[in-house]
Order: sequence, then structure tokens, then C-alpha cells
Amino acid sequence: MDKQDIKKAKELITSSGYIVIIGHKSPDGDSVGSSLGLYNVLKKIHHEVHVCMPDPHPGFLNWLKGSDQIVNYEEHQGEVNKHFEKADLIFCLDFNAESRVGKMEGLLNASKANKIMIDHHQDPTDFTDLTFSFPDECSTCQLIYKFLVELDYADHIDSDSGSCLYCGIMTDTGSFKFPSTTAETHRIIADLIDKGVDHFKIHEEVFDKNTEQKLKLRSYILSNSLQVLNEYKTAIISVTEKDLESHGYIKGDTEGLVNVALSLGVVNRAAFFMENDGLIKISFRSKGKENPVNSIANKYFDGGGHINAAGGRYLGSIDDAITKFVTVLPEFV
Ligand code: 5GP
Ligand code: MN
Repeated sequence: MDKQDIKKAKELITSSGYIVIIGHKSPDGDSVGSSLGLYNVLKKIHHEVHVCMPDPHPGFLNWLKGSDQIVNYEEHQGEVNKHFEKADLIFCLDFNAESRVGKMEGLLNASKANKIMIDHHQDPTDFTDLTFSFPDECSTCQLIYKFLVELDYADHIDSDSGSCLYCGIMTDTGSFKFPSTTAETHRIIADLIDKGVDHFKIHEEVFDKNTEQKLKLRSYILSNSLQVLNEYKTAIISVTEKDLESHGYIKGDTEGLVNVALSLGVVNRAAFFMENDGLIKISFRSKGKENPVNSIANKYFDGGGHINAAGGRYLGSIDDAITKFVTVLPEFV
């Protein structure tokens, strides 16, 4: 990280009385982990700090220290408005453009607070005063760790904030298996364990607290919808809102399911179409740099993301969304 930028960031942090940390819509392990990792450290050094998200985070993150203090805009507009009004400094974590915060975009644009982006998505938009953008890094949590070290705050990372950072590194690297995982990632993880992080408990919290209803929903989606387009080495799964309801769907239940489709040896690309509030939300995953999915998401599905993990949306029926995907697919294989 640039020394001058770190110096400016430290000045902004020390001179700000009221700090707000925000993440992207549909907050995931990295978004919530990085926000709470930074939150817990800044609280420890006596800052007034608040975390605001566009909508609620999934329940499998509820064990993270400070997760009960997160204010989401969907359910608590007034409180989020108040935090934005009072903010001297806003940290924008794990997203690269204002549009990624959904309905909080207006607040973010209108805010006169200083803004710092820390993120690992490609092509950041220029809307912050300081931008720490590193698309080669595995996760924003890894960046927060390095940011805190550069600020000379490493000693303030304890088992609570460390667990938040571990969680985001773990979820964004697919449990340390994606190519973005480096020797440095493992060194950071080793240091977090030295600081008291119980790594096995975190894996258990995130992956081994399934409910019967969740497992049945996941197996239903796979058995009911999985199709493999061998000629395009592509797998597709999908679920309607009606089927989600009849299976007692709870936010977070389908997290990572697209990776199960991608685990097929014969495919190098997978897409998951999920009907939600009359909109089709799509998750794309792929293997290898030669199979980018963010370009499909960006060009045809009003979305974006990383080369091997991206998301988008479609206004219409699931069948039409899948037809569109299959139609444009040849352009990308
Ligand atoms: P997921 O499939 O887990 O929702 O998202 C996978 C990746 O794509 C994440 O890194 C996420 O930040 C990104 N992503 C998901 N939806 C969108 C979107 O609508 N726009 C952009 N730019 N990125 C997205
Ligand atoms: Mn991330």
C-alpha cells in the first residue's frame, strides 16, 4: 500500500470523531467480516464507529463480534440516515462502485464525509478520497489486515477482530482453495491463529450448522434443476420463489450452492438463477483465467464481479433468463 495514502488514511482516522463503515448489498462473509474486523479494532482505540449495510446479512454470520450492532437500511432507514449525517469518515469496504450499495446510494453520494475505499474488485469507480484497490488480493479481509498492519494497529487485532478477518478470507477463498490464496494468505492466517482465533470453530459456524430444511432445499435444487451443457462445459441450476417458499427458505440457505455445480469435473463454468422479489438474481462461477464470468455478468446481466466469481440480475422469468444465458454463451467459450 502506498505510504503517502496510508499516512493520509491515518490522519483521517485520528481526526474523525464519527466513523461509518459500509458494505455492499446482499452482504457476504467478506463484506461483513471486513466491516466488523475494522469496526472492532477502531472501537478498541476509542472511536465512535458504526457499521451500516444496505440489507440484512445471512444468519450464519451472527456469531461475529459486533454483528448485532450492524444497522441495515432495509429495516432501519432512519438510523442509517442519522449515521450518514453525522459521519466524518466513511469506509467503503468490499465494493468498487456507488451502485453496489443499492438503496443507500443516494446517501453515499450526498454525504460530505471523507471516504476511503478498501476493495479487491476490478475497475474501481473514482468516488472516494482515498482508494486502496487491489484486484489480485483474495479478499477485502486480507486487505484490512494489511491496512491495519501498515497503520501500526497490528497489536490491536485480537481474537474477536481476527475471527472476523479469518471468516472473510475463508469464505472468499473457498476455504483457502482458490488460486487467489497465496503463501502470504497462509502467513496472515497463521498470525491470526497466533492472536487467538479458533479456526475450527469458524469453519463449524459457517459450514457445519446446517438445518434439515436447508439441506433438503439444496438437494432439491440440484436434483430438480441441474443441467449440464457439455458442449459449453457449463452447468446451470435454478430455483423459483415458489419452491424457495415451500422449502422454508431462509437468507443464506443457498450460499455456495453454485460452487457445487462448478465442482463437476466436466464443467469450467456454472450459473445459478434464483427468483427473488420478482427479479432473477444470478451467481456465476468459473475455473481458470481463460473463462471470465464477470464479462458475461457485466455485458448481459447488469452486474459484474471477479473473473471467476460474479453476479447479476435479469428482469423476467427464470426460463427467459436461462435462455438468454445459453444464447450468449457461445460468445464467451
Ligand atoms: P454472489 O454470486 O456471491 O452474489 O457474487 C459473487 C461476486 O460477484 C461477488 O464478488 C460480488 O461482489 C459480485 N457481484 C454480485 N452481484 C453483483 C452485481 O450486481 N454487480 C457487481 N458489480 N458485482 C456483483
Ligand atoms: Mn470480497
